[in-house]
Amino acid sequence: MLKIHVDMDKCQHYGQCVFDAPEVFALNDDDKLEYKATADDSERENVQRAVDICPMQAISFTE
Ligand code: SF4
Repeated sequence: MLKIHVDMDKCQHYGQCVFDAPEVFALNDDDKLEYKATADDSERENVQRAVDICPMQAISFTE
């Protein structure tokens, strides 16, 4: 199980993470980021890509 955290003080809601891990990250109707705080291990590669791509380095996770 992955535990995911986004620092919402850093997040600028650009949405790059949504493309890499759409099962975890989404933009809501107000174009604000929403995300699941936990995800299955099978999402690990996708979440890691989101961590790497985030321009604000706002995403972190633990296993
Ligand atoms: S890529 Fe980073 S800054 Fe952009 S929405 Fe995701 S967490 Fe926020």
